[in-house]
Amino acid sequence: MPELPEVEVTRRGIDAPLRQARVVAVRLGKPLRWPLGVAPDDLVGATVGPVQRRGKYLWLPLAGGRAPGGLLLHLGMSGSLGLVQRPGPPGPHDHFELDTTQGLLRLTDPRRFGAVVWSPSLTEGPAAKLLAALGPEPFDPALTPQRFHASLQARRSPIKAVLLSGEAVVGAGNIYACEALHSAGIHPALRSDRISRPRAARLLAAVQQTLQQALALGGSTLRDFKDVHGMDGAFQHAALVYGREGQTCARCGGTVQRVVQAQRSTYFCAGCQRR
Ligand SMILES: [Zn+2]
Repeated sequence: MPELPEVEVTRRGIDAPLRQARVVAVRLGKPLRWPLGVAPDDLVGATVGPVQRRGKYLWLPLAGGRAPGGLLLHLGMSGSLGLVQRPGPPGPHDHFELDTTQGLLRLTDPRRFGAVVWSPSLTEGPAAKLLAALGPEPFDPALTPQRFHASLQARRSPIKAVLLSGEAVVGAGNIYACEALHSAGIHPALRSDRISRPRAARLLAAVQQTLQQALALGGSTLRDFKDVHGMDGAFQHAALVYGREGQTCARCGGTVQRVVQAQRSTYFCAGCQRR
């Protein structure tokens, strides 16, 4: 499932090439998670502004046209966006296409949990509703170690589940949560409210470093993710515990284990990740 780094990699891939592009046509394929919420033709003639990201959502501002506002995009479980200069006909999994004067933006999504939703702005309409529950961004300076610790103190679930919920910080999806907990030396089953202030600070730093490394490596491709040029991410090869059950821990020489927590695989090393 595309997580924050994959979405940010996608944002960086489309932002500059689509800046000031004019929409010439919009094509919808099979239904996605939510309806578009506007007549596709009403977007024709609009101009694309700077692409933004919030959590795992992308915001594509559209100025002008008959429906000024923008599109909120989500890659769902299996989506990826491609920017194609000489597009062939859409494939069976291509369910949204924004044809512009600077290339065709195409959403390929085999499982169709992705979404493209029109909204009058980021702070009104469907976008405001969808973004309201998101926790703080990992690189927001307002997310201090103190604030992160307070947020962990307010929750009694295992820390791995709290990271996945995105309530304390967005972006630590399964692979990144496993890696950050390993890096910070914290056992994934440790109760969130039992984490001391120094360990919370170490964990926040580990989440930030893990996401930075993932961005530098083009994200992770566990199954379907491709960047806008069709390239796989490489972070999964750099992971120290994720997907490495039975292998030797690179840090302490222990053995990496896999357990299932809340129906998700957790990989960790009992040698160096303490309760
Ligand atoms: Zn270890």
